[in-house]
Amino acid sequence: MKTFEIPPLTSSVILKFTCPCGEEIVTDEFGVPSANYSEDTHEKSLVTEEYDVECPECGQVFTVVIGQSVCGCEGWIDELDDDEDVEITATSE
Ligand SMILES: [Zn+2]
Repeated sequence: MKTFEIPPLTSSVILKFTCPCGEEIVTDEFGVPSANYSEDTHEKSLVTEEYDVECPECGQVFTVVIGQSVCGCEGWIDELDDDEDVEITATSE
C-alpha cells in the first residue's frame, strides 16, 4: 500500500503515478473531504472518500482513498507498492 501526505488546506488533488505495467496515470481532480471536526483524535475525525482509477493500458483498477482528519490531509492507494512515487498536484481554496 502506498500512502502519501497531502498539504494542509487542500480542496482537491490530481495524482500522477506509474502503473506496474509502465503506463503513467494522471487522475481526474479528486475532492478532499472535510474532517469531522467535532472529534479530536485522528481515527475518529478521519473522513475518507474513495475514487476508482483504471489504467487505460492494462485495465488494472486502483482504489485511491483521500482523507482528512484534524491532523491533516492524507491518502493511500492499496494496489500500489510503497516504493512507487505518487506526484501530487494540490489545489487549495
Ligand atoms: Zn497498467
